[in-house]
Amino acid sequence: MKVTILGSGTSTGVPMVGCTCRGCSSNDERDKRTRASLLVRQNGRNILIDASPDLRFQALREGIERVDAVLFTHSHADHVNGIDDLRGFYFLHKEIIPCFGSPDTLDTLLSGFGYIFHELEGSGYTPLLEPHEISGTFKLFGLTIIPIPLEHGRTSAMGYRIGNFAYLTDCSGLPDSSLAMLEGLELLVIDGLRWNPHPFHFNIEAVITATLPLKPERTVLTHLTHDVLFSDGAKLPPGYEFARDGMTFDITAIEAQAGGSHA
Ligand SMILES: [Zn+2]
Ligand SMILES: [Zn+2]
Ligand SMILES: [Zn+2]
Repeated sequence: MKVTILGSGTSTGVPMVGCTCRGCSSNDERDKRTRASLLVRQNGRNILIDASPDLRFQALREGIERVDAVLFTHSHADHVNGIDDLRGFYFLHKEIIPCFGSPDTLDTLLSGFGYIFHELEGSGYTPLLEPHEISGTFKLFGLTIIPIPLEHGRTSAMGYRIGNFAYLTDCSGLPDSSLAMLEGLELLVIDGLRWNPHPFHFNIEAVITATLPLKPERTVLTHLTHDVLFSDGAKLPPGYEFARDGMTFDITAIEAQAGGSHA
């Protein structure tokens, strides 16, 4: 299974429009971040996690030729506003793309982007996506998808574990019941946002505190703001690093093995 970070940036992307700060004016390509999204590839199938406003650019950059399913984390604009860019994949392959999310997330998607899920009366546009409410662990193309509930300030989001990989964004806290589902990870990609605290997101210190007991082999901090320079990753503890757009990982265990190498 291959995992690619399509976007490692916070909601504004980096550089942020109008900003001339140190991060936004950095010449280091690794500091240029599109909005947070990730691709899982397995057996020729592509599972997209979130449809960021930069989806079209990300798909062209990574040479993505098909999207077979989309898992949505939540309905904030930086995670869903690229949904219309999924049309191209439908036009090419003529296959309706299943989309998975919590009931709340799907409600918001259906009210904001109803035209893409069902034919609006008299519109003549056929549906391209099919909504699927998540109610627990499910199978997709032979992979077991484990939804992981996350605290996101006063709201919530859904992370996903697939085999010994987990993608957790956006989050400010991990409920105990979710921590129990995150043992034995080979790779954890998780919201780290910035150095200073934020009410809706883990900051770097808080995410390290929350994840240290889980002992993932490798932890990659994503959804980063312009306050974070990639080169400052050297300041992180062993096993932690910053995400950058296009980063790709090979995951060996595609069935979750709780305890993993730490058992
Ligand atoms: Zn976000
Ligand atoms: Zn800036
Ligand atoms: Zn959010």
